[in-house]
Amino acid sequence: MKKWVIGLILSNLGFFLLIIFGAIAVSAIITGQEMDSEMNAGSSTRCSVVASGTLDEETLNQFLETRGVFKGTADIFIKYGEQYNVDPALVVAIAMHETGNGTSRMVRELNNPGGLMGDGPGFQFSTLEKGIEAMIKNLSDNYITQGLTTPELIQPKYAPVGASNDGMGLNKEWLNGVNGFLEQLGGLSTCSEGGSQGTGKYIIPVDNPNVSSGFIDRINPVTGVAEHHKGLDFAQPIGSNVKAADDGTVLVAEMGVSGSGFGGYGNVILIEHAKNKEWTLYAHQSKLLVKPGQKVKKGEVIGKVGSTGQSTGPHLHFEIRKEKMGGQIDPAPVLGVKGK
Ligand SMILES: [Zn+2]
Repeated sequence: MKKWVIGLILSNLGFFLLIIFGAIAVSAIITGQEMDSEMNAGSSTRCSVVASGTLDEETLNQFLETRGVFKGTADIFIKYGEQYNVDPALVVAIAMHETGNGTSRMVRELNNPGGLMGDGPGFQFSTLEKGIEAMIKNLSDNYITQGLTTPELIQPKYAPVGASNDGMGLNKEWLNGVNGFLEQLGGLSTCSEGGSQGTGKYIIPVDNPNVSSGFIDRINPVTGVAEHHKGLDFAQPIGSNVKAADDGTVLVAEMGVSGSGFGGYGNVILIEHAKNKEWTLYAHQSKLLVKPGQKVKKGEVIGKVGSTGQSTGPHLHFEIRKEKMGGQIDPAPVLGVKGK
């Protein structure tokens, strides 16, 4: 790859821009090693730093009108985005950055819009559609499904700063570049579905708070094993109201089974709060009144207190999480209640 780059520099200075885009594209090598370390990163469905918007085929085609080989390809990005559950706005933003707005040699000659690298000068695809599909599948398999859903989370693995294949040091421009395109596209579509971002201030999720167990190291009352209790327990009469701590989107509303990441929680609800980029969790409920995908308002009754799952009596186990699947913090000071 380096030989090719140097050769081009010597042979034709006018190709300089293409070299830049080629070198950026070199960044996207997929390695198994990196994947392992990122798999534990945990967090997901975080909104991007850029403003949210909406993206339909017409709007996307207008954007792509002046983007080299990508002119008229909105339907392809949207089709495979939906198929692999990857935000088309994210894919397009990365493709624009990787290919210099659809003009790089890699995309013109190899139909490779994502900078996907093999051992040679990059993977070659028979059509641009196949290249776009491969790019989206790579993003799905190695990023989105691993919880790496925003440019901020994707960049360290997709375009690591200081990577050996980034001789010109261009990976540090990746985040700004991709976020710049994303901004032009109106932000990540996944963050744009109406509804309030929330107030950023949580309310106590039960009517008569009585903390029966704090955010402490303790002996688990069911298993007898020492553990760190990652939430607050509010002892409550069975059937009393469980309320959303802030506006948000319900991600999980189910009986938590072993292996799901919610085993032991019984009937559990997980709500994403875009404003704080945090999640709240409500466990052991007797009844769930909301469904995944549903928008809820602060104070809305989402379920009823119960004793399902690993529980010794009716109570609400409440968590505040910095990551979707972890990162619990002590809710007591946040809610202004006394822990125990
Ligand atoms: Zn608990």
